[in-house]
Amino acid sequence: MKWLTRSLYMESMIMPRSAQTHAITQTSDKPSAIMNHLMTWLMGLSLLMVLSISTAVHAQTVPMAQTQADGFYRMMVGQFELTAFSDGTNPKDIAAIMSDPAKVRSEFEKIHLAMPYQSSYNVYLIHTGKELVMIDTGRGGLNGQLLKNLAKSGYKPEQVDAILITHMHGDHVGGLSLNGNRQFPNAVVYASKQEADFWLNINLGAYENPHWAGNAKRARANVNPYVQAGKFKTFDDPTKLFEGIQTLPTYGHTPGHSAFLVESLNRSVLFIGDTIHCAEVQFTHPTITIQYDVKPDHARDTRLALFKMASEKGHIIAGPHISFPGLGHLSQTGVGFRWVPVQYQHQVKASD
Ligand SMILES: [Zn+2]
Repeated sequence: MKWLTRSLYMESMIMPRSAQTHAITQTSDKPSAIMNHLMTWLMGLSLLMVLSISTAVHAQTVPMAQTQADGFYRMMVGQFELTAFSDGTNPKDIAAIMSDPAKVRSEFEKIHLAMPYQSSYNVYLIHTGKELVMIDTGRGGLNGQLLKNLAKSGYKPEQVDAILITHMHGDHVGGLSLNGNRQFPNAVVYASKQEADFWLNINLGAYENPHWAGNAKRARANVNPYVQAGKFKTFDDPTKLFEGIQTLPTYGHTPGHSAFLVESLNRSVLFIGDTIHCAEVQFTHPTITIQYDVKPDHARDTRLALFKMASEKGHIIAGPHISFPGLGHLSQTGVGFRWVPVQYQHQVKASD
């Protein structure tokens, strides 16, 4: 109000002067033209001040919404419909958990991106026309946003026919079950045999890393309800699970980590799981690893091979930890790769 009063006061000071200037214009020539311009400019300025100040006064009375748009993104892949869900985001001290912290920090500085890093958790759903196939399930629990966003997108958990698990870390299988109950009652869960053997079938005391034992407990709490219901299947080697959907062994991050290649007509998407965690660093420096890798060297080699394949074949990449929706194109640039997110399309329809 103080500002508004002041601006009105300023306007009242200017207006009479303006009238005075017009009076002078009739008797004097050159200086009056300059004055005229000056006064027009001042009047415009005073009007702008009134407008901008009144906007500021109004904004103070309206609280910021502080909510995000619905957490799903949709696109067509040939004849398949692909929906990406946000399971939420989480700030992470990413440099502290990567193999070259100085390089990570300098890359962030280069692109003027402030720490902490915001890690996305993305989940994907493919409607093939026959089946609804989900890839991973996010974190579940209090942080998990998947079910909320699934409902907003128009689908229900009981409509999901199959869930393909890239690997059994808690942020990928955490949404499968709640208190021992299956969240997707009609879905069959698929994971590689190597992944199931490592996380479900080893004595908890026998893991060489205590973090792995903790994760195994969480994996069992989420996967075993499906095992007990006869709704858990494993695959070995590259396997075609559904028409247009096949598995690719991509071991390293975990012993049985898998990617999934989804193809329809002339379009394809490669679901790469945790082959990459920090897009802002690992696309340009793919040899940098993260401490969550069970075998960092294998994880690095797998990342290089998958990125090369995707850039050569033109597969769209889908990454659960790439900034939502985590979908984009790759091209090789020397030792690194250029990442270009998919183009936003207002209408969900197949591109030519
Ligand atoms: Zn993860």
